[in-house]
Amino acid sequence: MDPVGVAAAPEAGPGPAWQSKCPWGTPKTASISCSLADVMSEQLAKELQLEEENAAFPEVVAVAEGPLITGENVDTSSDLMLAQMLQMEFDREYDAQLRREEKKFNGDSKVSISFENYRKVHPFDSDSSEDEVDWQDTRHDPYRADKPTITPKKGFIGKGKDITTKHDEVVCGRKNTARMENFAPEFQVGDGIGMDLKLSNQVFNALKQHAYSEERRSARLHEKKEHSTAEKAVDPKTRLLLYKMVNGGMLETITGCISTGKESVVFHAYGGKSATEDDKVIPSECAIKVFKTTLNEFKNRDKYIKDDYRFKDRFSKLNPRKIIRMWAEKEMHNLTRMQNAGIPCPQVVILKKHVLVMSFIGQDQVPAPKLKDVKLNSEDMKKAYYQVLNMMQRLYKECNLVHADLSEYNMLWHDGKVWLIDVSQSVEPTHPHGLEFLFRDCRNVSQFFQKGGVAEAPNERELFNAVSGLNITAENEVDFQAEIEALEKMNEDHVQNHGKKVSTFSTDGDPPIYNE
Ligand code: ADP
Ligand code: MN
Repeated sequence: MDPVGVAAAPEAGPGPAWQSKCPWGTPKTASISCSLADVMSEQLAKELQLEEENAAFPEVVAVAEGPLITGENVDTSSDLMLAQMLQMEFDREYDAQLRREEKKFNGDSKVSISFENYRKVHPFDSDSSEDEVDWQDTRHDPYRADKPTITPKKGFIGKGKDITTKHDEVVCGRKNTARMENFAPEFQVGDGIGMDLKLSNQVFNALKQHAYSEERRSARLHEKKEHSTAEKAVDPKTRLLLYKMVNGGMLETITGCISTGKESVVFHAYGGKSATEDDKVIPSECAIKVFKTTLNEFKNRDKYIKDDYRFKDRFSKLNPRKIIRMWAEKEMHNLTRMQNAGIPCPQVVILKKHVLVMSFIGQDQVPAPKLKDVKLNSEDMKKAYYQVLNMMQRLYKECNLVHADLSEYNMLWHDGKVWLIDVSQSVEPTHPHGLEFLFRDCRNVSQFFQKGGVAEAPNERELFNAVSGLNITAENEVDFQAEIEALEKMNEDHVQNHGKKVSTFSTDGDPPIYNE
């Protein structure tokens, strides 16, 4: 089969002649409307199987006559993987052909026309820094643009053996799936008709479904300018984790996305009936925070974690993927501390890799509004202020934490009180920048409540002292900050000299905690 059938050079505009001959066709972009839950349940079984496969696959392909490639007794559950491999194979062959065509077309001409945009694989071969980090553990990625492999024309049909042997390294372990994660939005799926392949319709439907779900997600999130980040957060591996939670009965359904941020995507879910491993009762509504597995944003946050004594020893040994998990882990630990101190915050349900499930603050799928979005009357506003003051003090004293991203964006108003969320970046006060973070938090809080008309709200310096129990007397912000930095420096020196940090900054007695 000539899979490409290149006849003419590509021209500007949609649908050049050569493209229409592509036997795989182009997926229709018609909008498909179905709920997230539909996709979840339909794909659940498939995805679970796929995972088992991923674990077992390297061994299977290592033997030349594995069950996958003999064509006999083919377990159809392998078809999905096979189809995906074929798709990749096809895309690469297509690109190789295109490259040859490009060369022929341009000849020795000084002005050449690039066919780059018609390639199928290239978006993922870019050597952007994002790829670089994300694929750190896929150094031998066979799909790199800089080492094109020309696939013999016959290589990908009929002779199953060839396909798999060529792909030995491709299918090894996580590399393959990792690759496919990024393939998804561009996934070209044919309907299998006329193909000399023993792929069941079921498999192709699954593939189609997959492509559509990518499209839908993209469409749904289009309103949000950061839509592409959500796409990436919910990669196949993440979905698999989510499916497992649903499949295991821990969650009833995942209803949809509440928020897509730079570093995370948050979903709403109804809690299931079964308890967690440690016998926790699952809340009736849950929030699932998925930490993004692309690392661009997290690189900027190194300073929070790198200098956190709790994580210091581990940091240098970790690869970026693990660092992402560490953020999730950090959020879990911090929430637990807060929970123990009785600070209103989401209750941790379970942590699986970079996916944190917690109780949902809100009701009937409607998340509680952020403090910045809710219009409080002056009485509630004042009440909220005193509550926030109290929480900041207890966070500092009882949890030994500084929120480090505290503002009206990370405080929810629910049940007549303020709830703190988003504590993955929270650090201990003796973190080398802990006091600076605290000062920033104080500034945000103080400004918010002062603007909100709370006459009692002190300025950020007074608030800082009230929270930390320190007694910095500087009258202006610059001097105040200089003193903060001096304290941090002292602490650093102490670490240098004694090999360990001070447990707290000494104060003239404990800071008084405001009682509501
Ligand atoms: P980030 O700001 O880093 O993206 P957050 O933890 O602040 O992550 O979550 C983003 C948004 O998702 C929040 O502003 C809030 O609206 C919503 N959210 C997060 N956790 C919960 C929760 N437990 N209950 C309800 N809504 C939540
Ligand atoms: Mn937030």
